[in-house]
Amino acid sequence: MIRTYDLILLRFGEIAIKGKNRKRFEKAAYMHIQSLLSAFPKAVIRKEFGRFYIELHGESAERMVPELQKVFGIESVSPVIAVPSELSAIIAAARQYLSEYNLQAPTLFKVNARRVWKGFEHSSHEMNRLVSGPLLHDQIHLKVDVHHPDFELRVEVREDQTYIFSEVLPGAGGYPLGTNGKAVLLLSGGIDSPVAGWSAMRRGLEVECVHFHSYPFTSKKAEEKVIRLAHVLASYAGSIRLHLVPFTEVQTLFTQAKQDNLMITLMRRAMLRIASNIAEQESALALVTGDSLGQVASQTLPSMNVIGRATDLPLLRPLVMMDKAEIIELSKQIGTFDLSILPYEDCCSLFIPKSPSTNPNLRIINKIESVLPGLDDHIKAAVEGTRTIVIQAGDKLTFDQEVEQEQWF
Ligand code: ATP
Ligand code: MG
Repeated sequence: MIRTYDLILLRFGEIAIKGKNRKRFEKAAYMHIQSLLSAFPKAVIRKEFGRFYIELHGESAERMVPELQKVFGIESVSPVIAVPSELSAIIAAARQYLSEYNLQAPTLFKVNARRVWKGFEHSSHEMNRLVSGPLLHDQIHLKVDVHHPDFELRVEVREDQTYIFSEVLPGAGGYPLGTNGKAVLLLSGGIDSPVAGWSAMRRGLEVECVHFHSYPFTSKKAEEKVIRLAHVLASYAGSIRLHLVPFTEVQTLFTQAKQDNLMITLMRRAMLRIASNIAEQESALALVTGDSLGQVASQTLPSMNVIGRATDLPLLRPLVMMDKAEIIELSKQIGTFDLSILPYEDCCSLFIPKSPSTNPNLRIINKIESVLPGLDDHIKAAVEGTRTIVIQAGDKLTFDQEVEQEQWF
């Protein structure tokens, strides 16, 4: 049976302790929640010290809770039943609440009452006893354990109403979106970069995505895959700007260097330069990549050193010290894994050399870049040729007929 809840309670985490930033952070979380609630027109947000309440007014808690669990800065989420602050009403609601849970014997149990409204006639301590008595009578398999209960029924007595709940579901945590500024994420179609983007957003960064494609060498389907990945990220952010950069000319130029093993180093540096230009246009102050130390040739420390020097911006690599298994686990949790493992080729896989350098030499790279004809112009042209699309969380993605027919799911 689906319970009818009256409210959803949202608790702040780290931000609650961030003294003077609290107001700004609460406002950012408020705006984020408000954008998500456009899909739930009857719901109303109410702010209280260290907490938000969503008054449901008939909207479905079951549908809304998973959305609210994506809001950064929120530590936990509880669906709540609200009743008048009268002892008989509280006990009746608690009995009903518990009976719907169908707890199987034996269950260690505790009532945790809090008298927030000091005008209420019974203390918190008395309320624990007054509420748990009838529940123990109803359900003989319940056993009180105040230290390690399997089931904790919380009762918050307030002046206007009393709140009853038991579930405390995890929120996304971190800092509210945008409270730490803006960064540009280099979003490939792989497993890592979407996870890096989510991790950056969770630290309070507003993220714009840049994707390099080599159309017509890479297919439209590869681009769609990236749009779908950005759409998943948008479900955490409300909306995402995605910059699609034509990279074919730059790549073709690098083939002229006839230095196969340095191709990836050269391409990554060009990507960083282009992304830095876009970051400047968009007033973003950092670049984010999905690099993880040692994972592939371009992510050894010497490679990171030579590649990273192509930009003056801080290069954030949220996954740098993580194992692949941990990254995969996160990508499953945030909902990008199934998209990431679709087989469509990336721009780099087209030019992948047999043995990419794990220890590129900066002097040689600088030399190649300085003698390649018109590299700066190609980079400029790629920036100018960039197409920007905005993907909203609620968008229904549709692609060309031709592509739909191929059923790529
Ligand atoms: P990912 O799974 O994110 O593709 P990866 O392990 O395959 O990572 P690489 O392909 O070496 O690693 O890419 C390293 C990082 O460079 C990526 O995480 C991403 O941030 C960036 N990157 C690579 N290819 C592209 C691309 N086509 N467009 C945008 N960024 C890219
Ligand atoms: Mg990749």
